[in-house]
Amino acid sequence: MDTIQITLPDGATREVPKGTTPAQIAQQISPRLAKDALVARANGDLIDLSLPLEHDTKLAILTAKDPDAVQVFRHSAAHLLAAAVLELYPHVKLGIGPPIENGFFYEFLRAEPFTQDDLEKIEAKMRELTARDIPNERRLIPKLEALDLYRKSGQTFKCELVEEKAIEPMVSFYTTGKFLDFCRGPHIPSTGRIKAFKLMNVSGAYWKGKESNPQMQRIYGACFVDQKELDDYLHRLEEAKRRDHRKLGKELELFTVSDQVGSGLPLWLPKGATIRRLLEEYILEKERQIGYQHVYTPDLAKVDLYIRSGHWEHYHDDMFPPMELETEELVLRPMNCPHHILVYESRKRSYRELPVRIAELGTMWRYERSGVLSGLSRVRCMTLNDAHIFCTPDQIKEEFAGVMRLVEQAYRDLGITQYSYRLSLRDKGPSDKYVANDEMWNLAERVLREAMDALRLPYTEAPGEAAFYGPKLDIQLADVMGHQETYSTIQIDFHLPNQFDLGYVGADGAEHRPVIIHRGVISTMERMVSYLIELYAGAFPAWLAPVQAEVLPLSEKTNEYAQKVEQQLKEAGFRVHLDDRNEKLQAKIRDAQLQKVPYMLVIGAKEAEAGTVAVRHRSKGDLGPRPLAEFIAGLRAEVESRAIV
Ligand SMILES: [Zn+2]
Ligand SMILES: [Zn+2]
Repeated sequence: MDTIQITLPDGATREVPKGTTPAQIAQQISPRLAKDALVARANGDLIDLSLPLEHDTKLAILTAKDPDAVQVFRHSAAHLLAAAVLELYPHVKLGIGPPIENGFFYEFLRAEPFTQDDLEKIEAKMRELTARDIPNERRLIPKLEALDLYRKSGQTFKCELVEEKAIEPMVSFYTTGKFLDFCRGPHIPSTGRIKAFKLMNVSGAYWKGKESNPQMQRIYGACFVDQKELDDYLHRLEEAKRRDHRKLGKELELFTVSDQVGSGLPLWLPKGATIRRLLEEYILEKERQIGYQHVYTPDLAKVDLYIRSGHWEHYHDDMFPPMELETEELVLRPMNCPHHILVYESRKRSYRELPVRIAELGTMWRYERSGVLSGLSRVRCMTLNDAHIFCTPDQIKEEFAGVMRLVEQAYRDLGITQYSYRLSLRDKGPSDKYVANDEMWNLAERVLREAMDALRLPYTEAPGEAAFYGPKLDIQLADVMGHQETYSTIQIDFHLPNQFDLGYVGADGAEHRPVIIHRGVISTMERMVSYLIELYAGAFPAWLAPVQAEVLPLSEKTNEYAQKVEQQLKEAGFRVHLDDRNEKLQAKIRDAQLQKVPYMLVIGAKEAEAGTVAVRHRSKGDLGPRPLAEFIAGLRAEVESRAIV
């Protein structure tokens, strides 16, 4: 009998008869593995567990621990969906059905829209097919026969796919009971394992994404190998909905977006503006303490400036179109760097004054496509806590470390604890996304790595995420769903100093080239406020809350004392609001709770007489009466320590 050699991931080898399947090998290794196995990887390719092995093979049996295997599992769930839909609605036409992050979709052409009721029926049908544990089997069909089969059943989109994609004379299909799909696979052995799924929604998508094509209905499902993971995911989804900054922004009156102004151009309402101003004041003060100099520079400049900086060549697609003006051509700035460079250049610089740290709450304009705009998090006009540090090469490490300390302190004060570091590099190979100068790129990358290593901070690498003028260190924050975005960034730039022919007079009396460190610490005000709204689910700590205390008189009789309390709190520097509506106390408390005001001060006859306030906290509940002066002292301590309560 012919044997073949199987090499397992740990390097162990075994001789097995030719034609042995990965499923049989899994069984030999352990019954547990055979039970958990979803799919196999043979010489790097994913294959069915039932595929007979004919040659010596490097083989791995994959379980739910392997992300690729989970995607195969989700792909099988997509087939299960299509099988269920075809049983219930035999006349639908099938499109494609791939796995996606956290689940799968399948698309269908059907005259009537799928309703919520339909989804429930389909899901029940899927569970029925699961309970029957139907095998997923691979079949090879001659291409002509496949086309004929699909033509007869009216599956025109599938015909298109077979025409386009099938090159071999034999075409790979998978069957799940009566359901048959043109598919390369692989798949998990049978439907029985697919239990942790939930159909989520239906949305329209043009066939192949082309507007001139028919519109398909995509049914989306969430799917995990085990139920706990699905439950976690659904729970996080609920949390994300509850915390969504667009929803809370409206309910808490923080910002609004008006059609009359335009997409991606939010208006900050008084309460949102208060939070933003507090953030701005906070970071300006921190920067002043460590030697930054703040400037104001205009939001636009001549196109020539951006031609010189390279933005015009490499960043053009993200800029607004220029404006013709008498003899000048002006453009809204997409970044502040060129302006700060001109501030540096406004006079001759000596090595004695370096590093020069030029900072600004700089407003920038970017042409984000309308499809990606969202609340405050993706906008077309944004104000960045920006700065450019002009220093000697010797000073890079210390300046880099100084920025990192500032980032960490700001995160601590803002209550941000979950973040990671990412080294964003260019992707190698020819590209007009980046300035060409290998030597400069390599130097900047080396200096960044050394700076990170000196701080002993772990980081991941992301090719293709660099700025056009150099690599950068990004600090990534994750939202409830685990999606990461860059909030803070530090870039070491050898390119722009050359472009602008920058210099300083060294100790030797000769002219030298400075380095620029670009850095944003608390991101744009828009993005950071959107993040904080979601982080706190709208319940801002007292130092950031737009209203810190709500004064609630029990009845008109105590209004006068309530006004006094309001006045004293205002004079003490707090943001306070008096609710003297003619409403029941319960209603006033409920409204203050909904607005997530940290403290409610209830004023009855007893309090008016004793000069006290009855204190209620939005999450701790009733804290009892105390003298107003005592409440003020407590709130002051809470605000000054920036306590996260
Ligand atoms: Zn498929
Ligand atoms: Zn910059």
